[in-house]
Amino acid sequence: MDGRKYGKMDRVYSAYLDELNPRSNDDVQLALAASGDIRFKEFLERINMPKYRRASLATIAKACNITLTEFNNWWNRASTQRAIAVAQVGSVMITRDIIEDARTQNVFCPRCDGLGFIAAQPGLPADTLGYRMLEPIDGEDGLRYIRNCPQCNTEKVVRKVGDAKARDQILELSGLVKKGAAVQIVQNFGGASHASALSGLNSLNTIDGVSEEI
Ligand SMILES: [Zn+2]
Repeated sequence: MDGRKYGKMDRVYSAYLDELNPRSNDDVQLALAASGDIRFKEFLERINMPKYRRASLATIAKACNITLTEFNNWWNRASTQRAIAVAQVGSVMITRDIIEDARTQNVFCPRCDGLGFIAAQPGLPADTLGYRMLEPIDGEDGLRYIRNCPQCNTEKVVRKVGDAKARDQILELSGLVKKGAAVQIVQNFGGASHASALSGLNSLNTIDGVSEEI
């Protein structure tokens, strides 16, 4: 602290920098180190020097010729860039999740809960698929019958179509389709060109050949 009067602006500057806490805030230190302005690099060096340990942050900043307004503007820009960088890293992970949501997946058959068979009534026609009697359980009366699950046909799993919204988002993100725009598909029929506009993005999934009707 120098001998000059410690005015209101200095108190505001001090309070601002104390809040920012550059001595222990890693984000602020990183931004200072990455700054293209040598005054901010100098500020970072000084706040870490033992001989400035007791000096107020505002005093050090002013010694580096940085005004409160400059510091405030610099941090606004730096924190915005930092936030964007964090969002960009996060968006990669979120995109992976959306892709996962969009994919068609195998899930346990909801009809038979993944058993492959369901309970059946006695007396069904003999050619009913998988129609058979279960081993009787000790102490229980009555015979129990089962038949093949008609939904998964003993596969135990069924395909579950991915989330439609996630599919739209991935197609938009990848640039294959424009957000909210009709899908333009050009088809060729023996040299003749035929352009079709579809409103539903999911309709893309059904178009895989040159001769399919739209
Ligand atoms: Zn089933």
